[in-house]
Amino acid sequence: DGSLAPRPVRSTCPYCGVGCGIRATPDGRGGATIEGDGEHPANRGRMCSKGSALGETLSLTDRLLHPEVGGKRASWDAALDAVAEGFARALERLGPEGVALYVSGQLLTEDYYAANKFAKGVLGTGNIDSNSRLCMASAVAAHRRAFGEDIVPGVYEDLEQADLLVLVGSNLAWCHPVLFQRVMAAKATRPAMRIVVIDPRRTASCEGADLHLPIAPGGDVTLFAALLTHLEDRGLGDARFLAQQTRGLGDALAAARQVAADAPALTGLPAEDIARFCALWAATPRVVTLWSQGVNQSSAGTDKANAIINAHLFTGRIGRPGMGPFSVTGQPNAMGGRETGALANMLAGHLDWERPGEHAALAAFWGMPRLATGPGLKAVDLFRALGAGRIGALWVMATNPAVSLPEGDAVRDALGGAPFLVVSEVTRRADTADFAHVRLPALGWGEKDGTVTNSERVISRQRAFLPWPGEAKPDWWAVAQVARRLGHGAAFAWDGPAAIFREHAAVTGLARPAARAFDLSGLADLSDAAYGEMPPTRWPVPARGPRADRFFAAGGFPAGRARLVATPFRAPEAQPDTAFPLRLLTGRMRDQWHMMTRTGSVPRLMAHAPEPLLTLHPDDAPDLAEGSLVRAETPAGSAVLRLARDPGQRRGTGFAPMHWTAQFAPAARINAALIGATDPVSGQPELKHAPLRVSAY
Ligand code: SF4
Repeated sequence: DGSLAPRPVRSTCPYCGVGCGIRATPDGRGGATIEGDGEHPANRGRMCSKGSALGETLSLTDRLLHPEVGGKRASWDAALDAVAEGFARALERLGPEGVALYVSGQLLTEDYYAANKFAKGVLGTGNIDSNSRLCMASAVAAHRRAFGEDIVPGVYEDLEQADLLVLVGSNLAWCHPVLFQRVMAAKATRPAMRIVVIDPRRTASCEGADLHLPIAPGGDVTLFAALLTHLEDRGLGDARFLAQQTRGLGDALAAARQVAADAPALTGLPAEDIARFCALWAATPRVVTLWSQGVNQSSAGTDKANAIINAHLFTGRIGRPGMGPFSVTGQPNAMGGRETGALANMLAGHLDWERPGEHAALAAFWGMPRLATGPGLKAVDLFRALGAGRIGALWVMATNPAVSLPEGDAVRDALGGAPFLVVSEVTRRADTADFAHVRLPALGWGEKDGTVTNSERVISRQRAFLPWPGEAKPDWWAVAQVARRLGHGAAFAWDGPAAIFREHAAVTGLARPAARAFDLSGLADLSDAAYGEMPPTRWPVPARGPRADRFFAAGGFPAGRARLVATPFRAPEAQPDTAFPLRLLTGRMRDQWHMMTRTGSVPRLMAHAPEPLLTLHPDDAPDLAEGSLVRAETPAGSAVLRLARDPGQRRGTGFAPMHWTAQFAPAARINAALIGATDPVSGQPELKHAPLRVSAY
């Protein structure tokens, strides 16, 4: 029933993909003291500004505490009946293509698993996508192209053991602060360690860096093509590794050579800086190239990530201590969503439609012959389909697409015109919930119970330490109740998250011995007590055979051989012109998380950046006064922001934070100005590049 006695509880921070362990000591009055868990491998007691303020975010102010139908309080039974009827109606009218779920990297793995099983199994649709599409999709696609499976080969220790750490499109200091603390501590003990930051902006991550390359937006493929060519010219390929473990070398080298000569023009970097970077990378065997949203959120995001992976495969610098390509996840459970298949182009447990027998094995295991037969719509296309009237019922969980998706005004119109919209939320202050026909009160952090997986494949427990407020319930429970109403009660008859986790683990054991790295089959019989006590656990956990911390040092790729992918240069889809001469970049602020649902309630976090700013280089739009209100306008729309100046901003670019919702600052929703260009492979939208003009407001 969710009632809990006050006692110290180990759990995991709900914010970023570092996945720090915390210890919560409830005060028995709905609050708790939060401190870093000294025994958690991700942070060893460290916390960042956001995590250390978690205890100040536990108020029930603005919580959604009761189900609502048509804007009026309703019983759970009535609300769940309405959801089941709404989806049944849409299925009858439009078929499986006409229903959808849009879920979130904030969900626990157990919630994610239930939502995916409901969508693909009960509804028979591939139309379940996650806000991870805005975050990780390009990295996922690049891993699948290169390795045959979505696998981060390395572990956090590699960042500390590297002699050279390259941060590409990652403001690690603000977006994964505890990892940055670990890197800085390693550099303090090994001053010879080198750090290179590749980012159009001089960010906080440049403090302590040996080299900052203020690359032009969209130049990453070219820079890594120049690196690959440099490595080839000097005979630095690992001939044996390449011959025995890889394919695609010739095409990748040819594509790289085609653009490498244009690297100064396409990257906007001086030739000598490019040469210095290439020489440093070439001379340093223990190198980790870490990337994040500056790479992923691009219409060429998958190619950018593959261009990075290519350099590591070429030199065999992968899977060994201090070496490898490393994608860090943005959200606390982006990795868990990938594991459960809650993306439109994936099946549960890293099973794949394209590998023979895996779809059938999952359909048989679930007892669901209607299991979706192919991929569904990815986020941007899903909401375009909603706007075009092709989606009759949509269930949104733990995310706020009205504020986070590009083409924000069109998304709001689509939500406003949705025939049937269900929103599962913790807060009344989510813009998307304003459009919902049915609102379901969800448990929040500290109340819900399950697991998350961080960027280094470590599964950690999120444990409840607060009572369930009002009538809020776990998301998996709500999904199961609707599935039961649609005739699938037996397949959703879980008595708690441990049962779901066991089923999730069992799915990873299906259709083996196909070579698949993701394996939790060794946890498929975990008892409730063992699940309750489960320590942080890195996958794979096979039922038999050895466990590996790192992947691919000696090959063993799921696809047989790794693939070097040819990555020709493609410019960002929409280019600046005389009407829109600048480029708009978006990103995070140090002390805010997503749409500020939690962090926006903490005065000391708000004090870091009290209002949304547009940051320009002093040379751009010089007639506009610093501190004045300006309109940032793109071909998609506009937002009103206060102008800041920073010489660390690359000339010709403007930066705006992503966090402010209509609830906080109605005119400052930057997603209204973001274009809907997407990567053709991953479907990830280009949130870091839109033609921009700025004028006085
Ligand atoms: Fe939480 Fe990330 Fe900060 Fe760790 S680094 S405390 S996971 S926000």
